[in-house]
Amino acid sequence: MKILVFEATEYEKQRMEDALRENEVIFFEEPIHEVKLEGYADCEAISVFVHSKVTKEVLEKLPHLKVIATRSTGVDHIDSDYCNEHDVAVKNVPLYGENTVAEHTFALILSLSRKIHKSYVRSIRGNFSSEGLQGFDLQDKTIGIIGGGRIGLHVARMAKSFGMHVRVYDIKEDAFLAELINFKYVSLDELYKQSDIISLHVPLNKYTEHMINRESLKKVKTGALLINTARGGLVDTDALLAALEEGILSGAGLDVIEGEEYLMEENLVNSPIEEASKIIASSKKLLENENVVMTPHNAFNSIEAVNRIIDKTIENLSM
Ligand code: NAD
Repeated sequence: MKILVFEATEYEKQRMEDALRENEVIFFEEPIHEVKLEGYADCEAISVFVHSKVTKEVLEKLPHLKVIATRSTGVDHIDSDYCNEHDVAVKNVPLYGENTVAEHTFALILSLSRKIHKSYVRSIRGNFSSEGLQGFDLQDKTIGIIGGGRIGLHVARMAKSFGMHVRVYDIKEDAFLAELINFKYVSLDELYKQSDIISLHVPLNKYTEHMINRESLKKVKTGALLINTARGGLVDTDALLAALEEGILSGAGLDVIEGEEYLMEENLVNSPIEEASKIIASSKKLLENENVVMTPHNAFNSIEAVNRIIDKTIENLSM
């Protein structure tokens, strides 16, 4: 079977090459939408990461495709309607790193709550004054988790160990887990009103896109922190910038931002200029804000999680 693997790192290449040696496997560093696929029409399986735009136009060039193995939990970068209509199985990695992403969520929270980012910059410049670096305790604060699924529940468990009050909003509720972990389900409005820290853990889809917008930000407790390790498209960037400017939010910890794919130099070449310039300008404003901590979609990236992703992807490609 011919398998095309996109956005492959050297480590992924080494491990997958060996495990899939009975197949013809071709690796690309680029995302799928940047590769000319004309010569690969006979390919039956592909593997992508989140920066590949697996659109109808891309998929039409691979008429024999049977499987897409994405090396991610989210599948919002893949045209699932096309896949359903054309019997292309979309396989993801649902269970590689709930604790990994939850730990990163706390890395962002603690950076902001204890001003680690500002302290780091100051100390590497040789300034050891602690003036202006006072933080706040997490104990007795309230965290509002939007999306109490696999990652959200690990965040809830960790938050309890910090002595925090935990509120969760989810379209599905599990009373047993709420009692076990000791959190309360609340409505979205109650969550906005009560939370000192709001953390996003829902998938990106037509119901959740821009769920954090000017209207929802009007409901948040003044000075709350917003943490996003889920998907950039959940947050309207202009509304976020305004909320930071107006002090509605006192900070934001972002592993993902809207249009993050345009921030990778190699993707910029083929980007629509107007859209890319807007994204670059907003992200620059976010980066310049001293109350924003950003990481480059790196929440999943621990050695343990990456090995679990590769193992599951190899299983997904072994039809
Ligand atoms: P999950 O499917 O286990 O949990 C998602 C939860 O959201 C579910 O409980 C679901 O009921 C709930 N939900 C869905 N739509 C909702 C809505 N409209 N309103 C309220 N709740 C809703 O997913 P997960 O494994 O916890 O992952 C969450 C998200 O984190 C993923 O979709 C992915 O986008 C993101 N993620 C990011 C990284 C990263 O590296 N930054 C890594 C892995 C996953």
